[in-house]
Amino acid sequence: GDSLKQTVVLCPGIGGAGHVGPMAQLAELFLEHGYDATVVLIEPPISSSDSDFAGSRPSVSFLEHQLLGRIAAAHPSVSFHVLPPLPPPDFAGSDEHPFLLVLRLLRRYNERLEAFLRSVPRARLHSVVVDQFYVQAIDVAAALGGVPVYTFVSSGASALAVFIQIPALLAGRQTGLKELGDTPLELAGDLLEHPEDDMCRAMPDILKRGMETHGVLVNTFESLESRAVQALRDPLSISLPGGRVLPPIYCVGPLVGNGKSARDRGEERAECLAWLDAQPERSIVFLCFGSMGSLPEEQLREIVAGLEASGRRSLWVVRTPPGRADLKKILEQRGEPDLDALLPEGFLERTRGRGLVVRSWAPQAAVLRHPATAAFVTHCGWNSALEGVAAGVPMLCWPLYAEQLMNKVFMAGDMSVGVGMEGYAAGLVGAGEVEAKVRLVMDAEQGRELRARVAARREEAEVGLMLGGSSQRAFAQFLSDAETIRESRALGQVK
Ligand code: UDP
Repeated sequence: GDSLKQTVVLCPGIGGAGHVGPMAQLAELFLEHGYDATVVLIEPPISSSDSDFAGSRPSVSFLEHQLLGRIAAAHPSVSFHVLPPLPPPDFAGSDEHPFLLVLRLLRRYNERLEAFLRSVPRARLHSVVVDQFYVQAIDVAAALGGVPVYTFVSSGASALAVFIQIPALLAGRQTGLKELGDTPLELAGDLLEHPEDDMCRAMPDILKRGMETHGVLVNTFESLESRAVQALRDPLSISLPGGRVLPPIYCVGPLVGNGKSARDRGEERAECLAWLDAQPERSIVFLCFGSMGSLPEEQLREIVAGLEASGRRSLWVVRTPPGRADLKKILEQRGEPDLDALLPEGFLERTRGRGLVVRSWAPQAAVLRHPATAAFVTHCGWNSALEGVAAGVPMLCWPLYAEQLMNKVFMAGDMSVGVGMEGYAAGLVGAGEVEAKVRLVMDAEQGRELRARVAARREEAEVGLMLGGSSQRAFAQFLSDAETIRESRALGQVK
C-alpha cells in the first residue's frame, strides 16, 4: 500500500521557473514509476517589512506567488514542501554577484532542509535529487549517510560539457572538448571573460561538487545532443581536476509540460489560447523571453517595427524592462508592464485581431503546442528550447545572458532546430533583422527545411520517451543503479 511507497525528495533551490518547472516534471516521472515525490521549495525572504520575519512565520501567500504557484498548480499529484523564510542576511551595499548571494541565502536553510529530510522515515527515503547549482543541499543530503544523492541538470548536456571544463580552462589547460569544436572560450562566454570576478572564482568548486554525486540526471535526450553526451562519457574528452571521471550520466528528457494540465482539470483557459483558437493554422510567430528576460524600450520599438513590416501575425509576451539588477529584483516578481506606455502609439489598435501582446506571462508550453503557432522567437533558455523541440516549432534564437549564448550555438548548430538573430551581441536587434528572420522562418525554403528538421527532432523526443526508447531506458537504468546503491548500503558496504 501507499505507506510502503518510497519517497524521492527533489531540491531545486531558489531557481525560478527554469529550475523548479523541470524538477516538478521529474517528480511526475517518479510518480509514474510508483514512487512518492516531494519538491522542497524555499520561500525567499523578500517582504515589504522586516516585521514579517518576527518568528519566521511562513507567509500564506507564497504558493500564490505567481510563478511557483502556477507550477505547483500544474502538478496536483506532486507534494510541495515549503521551507518557511528566514530573515535575509544583510545584503545592503554588497557587490557580490547576485548568483552568489542566492547561494549564500540558500545556505541559511541547511538546517531546515536537514530537519525535513530527517522527517522522512529512513527506510522510505529513496534518494535526494538536487539542482546542479544548489550544492549545499548535496552536502546536507550526503551528511545523512547512506542515502543516494543525484544531481539534476536542467540546462542540457552541451552546456554541462562546457561548464565542467571551466575549471580546467580557467587553470589554463585548454584540453578536451574535441567533440564540441574549437571554440570553448567563446561558448563559455561570460564565465571566462572575467576570471578574476567573484563568480568565476567560486564556479569551479560549485561545478565540481555538483559532479560528485551518485549520478547526473540531465534534461535532454541522447540523440539531440549526442556529441556532448559522448564527450561527457569519455574520460579522455572531459578533463577534470585530479583525473577524476564523471558519475553516470542519465539523459531522461525532455521533461517538459504537455501544456494540457490546466484544461484537463477543467480550469479556465488562458485568454491567449482562446485567441489562438481563432487564428489560422500555423500562422503565428510567438515571442517570449523566459521567466526573467526583459528587453529595453528601444528594443521593444524595433520588434514592433519589424513585426509590422513582416505583415505576419504574432503573440508576444512583454515584461517590464529591467531596472537596476539586484537580488530583490531577481527574487521578486516585477510589476506588470504598462503596455500603452511601452509600445509605440497605435500598435495595439493597428494589429488588433492579428497580433496579441500579453503582459508578463503566457502558458508557453501550451502556446507552442497550439496548431496556430508557427515559429518561436526565444531567449534560448534550455527549457524553452526543449519545449520548442517537443512541439516541433522552429526557433529564432535571441539569447540574452548566461548559458543562453551557448545554447544558441548548439540550437543553430548541431541540433539544427533554430536560426540565430543578428544584433543581440551588440545590444540591439534591428527592425530589419526581425522582419528578415520572420520572413525566413515563415516563407522561405530555409524555413521549410528548418521546420522539417524540428519535426524530426520532435519525433525522436517522443520515441525516446516511449517504452524501449533511450530516455525511458536511461530512467530505468537510474532506478536500478539507485537500488544497487541502496542494497549495498543496507548490507553495510558503505562506499
Ligand atoms: N515560461 C512560461 N511563460 C512565460 C515565460 C516562461 O510558461 O511567459 C516558462 C517556460 O515555458 C519555461 C520556463 O518558464 O518552462 C522558462 O525556463 P527557461 O529555461 O526557458 O528560461 P529561464 O526562465 O530559466 O531563463
